[in-house]
Amino acid sequence: MAEVTLSHVRKVYPNGAVAVEDFNLAVRDREFLVLVGPSGCGKSTTLRMVAGLEEITSGTISIDGKVVNDLPPKDRDIAMVFQNYALYPHMTVKENMAFGLKLRHTPKGEIEERIAEAAEVLGLTPYLSRLPKQLSGGQRQRVALGRAIVRQPKVFLFDEPLSNLDAKMRVEMREEIHRLHLRLDATILYVTHDQTEAMTLGDRIVVMESGHIRQVDDPVRLYNEPANCFSASFIGTPPMNLLPMTADGQGRLTSEAGTLMPPQAVLPALAPGQTVLVGIRPEQMIQTADRAPFENALLAEVDIVEQMGAEAYVHFNVAGVRMTARTKPDWGARHGERYYVQPMLDRLCLFDVASGERLYA
Ligand code: ADP
Repeated sequence: MAEVTLSHVRKVYPNGAVAVEDFNLAVRDREFLVLVGPSGCGKSTTLRMVAGLEEITSGTISIDGKVVNDLPPKDRDIAMVFQNYALYPHMTVKENMAFGLKLRHTPKGEIEERIAEAAEVLGLTPYLSRLPKQLSGGQRQRVALGRAIVRQPKVFLFDEPLSNLDAKMRVEMREEIHRLHLRLDATILYVTHDQTEAMTLGDRIVVMESGHIRQVDDPVRLYNEPANCFSASFIGTPPMNLLPMTADGQGRLTSEAGTLMPPQAVLPALAPGQTVLVGIRPEQMIQTADRAPFENALLAEVDIVEQMGAEAYVHFNVAGVRMTARTKPDWGARHGERYYVQPMLDRLCLFDVASGERLYA
């Protein structure tokens, strides 16, 4: 398999739109790397540049140490799976899967073997003689996966492959792709706007915003140690709460809702009067039955309770800021009630108000 390296890659479209700026990334051999970010942040452009479907304005892309900037897609030893499947409608499942191999003059017997194996893995054996229009969305996406697998490429590129599927099928196919990675031991570069897909599939995740990389980390670190407010709010449902608080220069953070005294391990050096954004994950907001003020707690008024069955999301108004706690489903909070909530102080993340960057102790 293969490594993919992008160095100082930039992409400006002919209309002047800067889609990707100074992109530096080394995808490791056999890694499942996910590019995630909101629509328009440059994920597809990045993937298409690796595929060779889009020219690079400047910088270099290499696969297995070989610069591929000027190599046409067919010579890059990659296979791409698209959101819209991109199957040939007049060809059967088997013909769709065989097409790329025939172009490369793979011997007939080998084509048969590879298709039979891929079809078995993907549960497509009974459908080999059907046309794409006779298949469900999930089956079509399996065919697209099969067509990629039989090529035995160095690198797989996935562009939002699950976006056209309904919610249930999406979860099934997500697991399928996960299993496929374990089985193929392949290098995979995967684009999605869905943070759940990114978290569940990625060995590492690249968070992108407006053509820039904001953070590269494994899912657990990304969740627990967001490097900036953007990562903090993009990853996690409900997202991380961000409450503006003011430092008193003596280890305390204050807001109208209360005062917190975080341990030194999480408290960066702050000037008296400096405002920071205090990040608290919803499951780190410990709700108490206490209605009287006490130390290290924030006064929170219940706005809406969303019942999820296994848990509830309680949306509070905390000094005019909306904050969410994940609670037990039977806590029974009601609109308008006031509580004191206690953030887990050793887990707080502090961010600079102006830049949004994390402030480290
Ligand atoms: P994403 O995949 O994250 O949704 P894209 O890579 O498709 O983002 O797009 C990144 C930016 O480049 C967007 O601002 C988009 O409008 C712009 N863009 C994409 N394709 C083209 C194109 N062919 N011509 C001009 N601008 C484009």
